[in-house]
Amino acid sequence: MTLLSQELTQRLRACTSLPSPPAIAMKVVRLAQDPDIDIAKVADAVSADPAIAAKVMRMANSAMYSMRRQSTNLHQALMLLGLNATLTLALSFTLVQSLRRNPTKGFDFNAYWRRAILAATWAKLLASTTGRRDGEEAFLAALLQDIGMLAIEKIWPDVYQGVAPFQMPHGSVTEHERGRLGADHCLVGAALLKQWNMPELLVLAVKHSHDASGASLAEEERGLVTCVQLAGELSEVWLQRDDDSALRSVSEKLQQRLGIGQEKIAELFDAIGGQLPVAESVFDMNLFDAAQTAATLEAAKEILVVRNMQVLAEVQDLRLRQHSLEKENVELREEYSRDPLTGAHNRRHFEDALEREFDAAARHDWPISVIFVDLDKFKEINDTYGHPAGDAVLVEVAKVLGQGVRDSDIVARYGGDEFVLLLPGCDARQADRVGSRLVAAARRRSVYLEDGSILGVTLSLGIATRDPQLRFRSAKELLAAADTALYQSKRGGRDRHTCYTAEKVYERT
Ligand code: GH3
Ligand code: MG
Repeated sequence: MTLLSQELTQRLRACTSLPSPPAIAMKVVRLAQDPDIDIAKVADAVSADPAIAAKVMRMANSAMYSMRRQSTNLHQALMLLGLNATLTLALSFTLVQSLRRNPTKGFDFNAYWRRAILAATWAKLLASTTGRRDGEEAFLAALLQDIGMLAIEKIWPDVYQGVAPFQMPHGSVTEHERGRLGADHCLVGAALLKQWNMPELLVLAVKHSHDASGASLAEEERGLVTCVQLAGELSEVWLQRDDDSALRSVSEKLQQRLGIGQEKIAELFDAIGGQLPVAESVFDMNLFDAAQTAATLEAAKEILVVRNMQVLAEVQDLRLRQHSLEKENVELREEYSRDPLTGAHNRRHFEDALEREFDAAARHDWPISVIFVDLDKFKEINDTYGHPAGDAVLVEVAKVLGQGVRDSDIVARYGGDEFVLLLPGCDARQADRVGSRLVAAARRRSVYLEDGSILGVTLSLGIATRDPQLRFRSAKELLAAADTALYQSKRGGRDRHTCYTAEKVYERT
């Protein structure tokens, strides 16, 4: 942020036409900064100005505080409102009153106060919605956030000549000021408030009111300043009525920076509609046409709700698409890795798994077994009962194999009437047992054909195990060993299993 030029600072100091807050407000400010504040002293100061005292009473009993007890005297009202609220009220009434007594020609004061009161009401609402306890500070800071514009108007009247600052987006106003003065109204306003000895936090909030991202802000200050900034932007929604983008932009920021969701924002628009008349009456102003306010609120809520629904529909749509893509993906993966007839894994899937598991076994020196399975005299079944009967037998054998091993093992159809099993972690002794169990299970199993025939089938198995006694050099060698053992089972008379042992083909490593 640029610093205020010397000339600007001097003009600000020298300007006598700028109102300074009346004595009573200054007194309340001073009292508020005293850590041993006594509410009775504040009551004395406030009661010195009957107009303000009456306002405090009215405010304490107004809808803004209506949830609490009604108060019948000033002391009670002050206790009820608290010191901050009293300070806010004293300052804001007196400033508003004195500024209204000295209007500058050509400056749209109604537009100025509309924005100020709207922003103040929003700021207080945002602060309470986000659980902050500095709602009064937020109210006052938002109310005064554009006070620099009044100062600029007084000390450098030609800055706004030819432009209508309340008809253009507020961001363009600050840009215009920077172009003309090298400083914007936030900086000028902060300087003015400092000159008036206003509390430091208020000065800071006004200084950063149009840019809450300032790196120099402490976390606690940033929260307050964010409420003030977004309150300013929310009042734009009124002032730039034809432009939906202001509402979209501020509702995104409310969500991101204050965690206020779309639905809640729509609720806040309802709440602000109820609070505006109260704020207006506090300042004795009649700035908002009730019908127009209602129309603006309705339009804003409609945009919010429509937008909300659009977002929900988009999210739903994306979810559905994601779901169906995931499903398709799973189906494709399944199709890619399964044998369509038996539902067992296919050869490609088996070979990938074998490579992977063999590598893992070699790395950790774990055992791993492979069992080759071939149906005995299967051609005869096909020839005697027909191909569909042969298919039914293949399906049944796949079931027998699947039921005979662990879920973590892999059963695959290798091709034709050959199946292959991969048993990670399974040592030679366990594989031997699995082999005899499978042969026995097949022998017991019957296949019932549609024509009433009952078929039996036997299996020949070849088993090879990679273990510390026999470390094959590759997955292919392990598979070839199982195939050799299978050949041995066939030669030995079928309906049996053979375990491959090192002596026959491979040397021990
Ligand atoms: P062996 O005991 O020596 O293995 O004798 P076998 O008759 O089983 O001989 P082999 O394993 O060589 O025969 C495989 C037969 O499997 C040959 C082929 O007709 C049949 N076959 C291959 N794929 C299918 C299939 O998908 N469905 C059916 N029904 N038969 C198939
Ligand atoms: Mg066969």
